[in-house]
Amino acid sequence: MADDSLRTALHDESPAPPRADIDDLKRRLHDHLRHSLGKGPVGSTNLDWYLALALATRDLMVETWMDSTRRAYSNDAKRVYYLSMEFLVGRSLDANLLATGSLDLARHTLADMDLDFEAIRECEPEAALGNGGLGRLAACLMESMTTLSIPAFGYGIYYDYGMFSQYIEDGQQVEMPERWLRYGNVWAFDRPDVIMPVRFHGHVEDTRDQHGHVGRRWAGGEEVLAEAHDLMVAGHECWTVNSIRLWSAQASREFDLRHFNQGDYINAVAEQSFSESLSHVLYPDDSTSMGKALRLKQEYFFVAASLRDIVRRFLSTHDDFTTFPRKVAIQLNDTHPALAVPELMRILVDEHRLGWDEAWAICNGTFAYTNHTLLPEALETWPVGLMENMLPRHLEIIYRINHQFLEGVRARAKEVDDDRVRRLSMIDEGGERRVRMSHLAFVGSHRVNGVAALHTDLMRAGIFAELHREFPDRIVNKTNGITPRRWLRSANRPLSALITRHIGDRWVAHLDDLRGLLPLAEDATFQEDFRAVKRLNKEALCRYIDARLGMELDPETLFDVQVKRIHEYKRQLLNVLHVITLYLRLKEGRAGDAPPRTVIIAGKAAPAYYMAKLIIRLIHDVARVINADPATNDRLRLVFIPDYNVSVAEHIIPAADLSEQISTAGTEASGTGNMKLALNGALTIGTRDGANVEIGEEVGEENIFFFGLPVEKAEHLRNNGSHDPWQYYTGDPELHAVLDMIGQGGFSHAEPDRYRPIVDSLTRHGDHYLLLADYADYIACQDRVGRAYLDTDAWTRMAILNVARMGKFSSDVTVADYAADIWGVPTPGWTADAASP
Ligand SMILES: *Cc1c(COP(=O)(O)O)cnc(C)c1O
Repeated sequence: MADDSLRTALHDESPAPPRADIDDLKRRLHDHLRHSLGKGPVGSTNLDWYLALALATRDLMVETWMDSTRRAYSNDAKRVYYLSMEFLVGRSLDANLLATGSLDLARHTLADMDLDFEAIRECEPEAALGNGGLGRLAACLMESMTTLSIPAFGYGIYYDYGMFSQYIEDGQQVEMPERWLRYGNVWAFDRPDVIMPVRFHGHVEDTRDQHGHVGRRWAGGEEVLAEAHDLMVAGHECWTVNSIRLWSAQASREFDLRHFNQGDYINAVAEQSFSESLSHVLYPDDSTSMGKALRLKQEYFFVAASLRDIVRRFLSTHDDFTTFPRKVAIQLNDTHPALAVPELMRILVDEHRLGWDEAWAICNGTFAYTNHTLLPEALETWPVGLMENMLPRHLEIIYRINHQFLEGVRARAKEVDDDRVRRLSMIDEGGERRVRMSHLAFVGSHRVNGVAALHTDLMRAGIFAELHREFPDRIVNKTNGITPRRWLRSANRPLSALITRHIGDRWVAHLDDLRGLLPLAEDATFQEDFRAVKRLNKEALCRYIDARLGMELDPETLFDVQVKRIHEYKRQLLNVLHVITLYLRLKEGRAGDAPPRTVIIAGKAAPAYYMAKLIIRLIHDVARVINADPATNDRLRLVFIPDYNVSVAEHIIPAADLSEQISTAGTEASGTGNMKLALNGALTIGTRDGANVEIGEEVGEENIFFFGLPVEKAEHLRNNGSHDPWQYYTGDPELHAVLDMIGQGGFSHAEPDRYRPIVDSLTRHGDHYLLLADYADYIACQDRVGRAYLDTDAWTRMAILNVARMGKFSSDVTVADYAADIWGVPTPGWTADAASP
């Protein structure tokens, strides 16, 4: 390491703040400890100090928060509403300390008080109100909208139980519910006074008002109340603070009274908790629609409460709806909130007596929809019967929207093609009639976006091809991004400090500035410092893994990382096949000078996803065998880190050398983990899928390791009956040995057939995700990776170039594009540094 100042920079140890500031924060901490928590300093725990520090930090945000709201009101600004079933926010203390500029002060003050800052931060429960990429995108976009000073609201559900905690018992995943609100939530304000009634079931009746207008009215049924909880989101340097408004379910008062008056106290209370169970739990399925009625109920619950709130806010400063689409943009994060389309129609037509066509124009001008997946099992459809019972008026409205849409299609077409009409319809008539939520969202929106260039192309050519022909300008691309504040500035303080030392800190809000590092890629001293940073992060990860798993790892080895939900399409299994290949080569003395590797895998499987859980078990069985083998374990280790979530990601990602992004081409819509890892100086081994393609364009083909079948070939194989995985199995001796070892109990002696289903799915059941077709190329590519890693200087140079060229993947860029092209709102925080008010 070059000098002391660098050492300081690496640890991000800025000089001590003035004594007076330290004393002031101390006073504020003691004040909160006493007056907010009712404790004295004697016997107070790390949790108490976490709460006190969080409250003191929150105090610094509240003024800006209220200011931001006032500014939007007084400017009559157009507001952006981001409707999402999931917000995977993670912890907030670090982010908010950084945003308020008080991280160093907090660190020094706690040290001065002989308190353990690291241990105190670890007390914060993770806000895991999401499954994975989709929910994390919502959190990154909210942070960037706030940084860009867009008046934005997230809307979602305040689940009592977010994502489950994953424990490993006997090598197998066990799910445990996580009551993340057990100690309250410092970052949210509960609003028991902001409650919205939400109706379910009931019937639809004809109405006639005093002017003789006839209409329809939804009545009867049951009512549940939605209560607001406002989560604060600070932007960069806290110029703006926005909210994510999350709804929890409360039994309605009226409903209680009826039962209480009948003297049935116990049952009344029981039914009350039944209503409230609506917001209890997040569905833990990623990229799969389970089709449970409670899920549909959750979807309508938060959509109805949010729209009522949005309309109320609009009408508080406007007399009619003519300017609605000019003042309100509503983004639908996937189809989960697609009921917003018929709900807004219902509000406008039934409650405010607008004409159908006028209401429809308002809806269409207001909504936009983001598609996240092309996997058929993820496309949401709901049985018509279920919807008729739960939301009878909405079903009527959907029928009418569909009717008018299909009439338009017929009017535009020269000849009526019934097949085409069937494919376009919002109702799937094949078998049990079902509502296609993607068609509803598509037709109801003025823009529909994919989340990476390739994904958007595939939308146009594939599942939305027919709709695209009807509305050729509607589909646009908005490549996903990640917030550099969390994923570099906060998660990787050593690298941030090194970068800032060379190019200043403007990159934190203008990530493209990282290009300033380009000339340094060749600089021997900078390379050395860059390696020192990576080494430091790897050592920190080793300590973390040792503390959690009691496993000692070698930071000298290549850290090969695959962290994401466990899913067949993401192909963790292909990674395992490579690990076993390396193992057999080492055993048989065929590994040559391949560098020692530590393969790190983390991720949760949906509780009902049999194959994904079996893959987790296989990873553990393989790890047990190879980590215990003295003949190889100085050159190959396999580690599964349990309970992958945002906080765990923040520990792992800065320490990665290699980023595994190996989904079957055409299955990963974008990926954002790929961006986080490249931004932190990991090189990517990946398929030409999702945003990997664009990462390759940015960093240069020579600085990324691509392998595998491209989309067209992969699709051809998968849709073509002639695909014969057996031929790869018999034709490749190395693959043959690996599959035999798994299939014959080489890692499960006590139960030799344990992994038969995995091997059979590949060799006998069509290998839907083409692991065998891509195996040989993947192994060859991994060999190239190994050789490249041995040339330390060349590897470091490539890693620096990756970091320097990741500017495009800042979620600030993504949001600026949504703002200009979809929402039509200005982005005061974007171009000018002078944006801070
Ligand atoms: C970024 C992130 C994801 C998404 O990862 P992909 O590799 O894009 O699937 C999932 N979970 C967490 C906790 C994340 O931070």
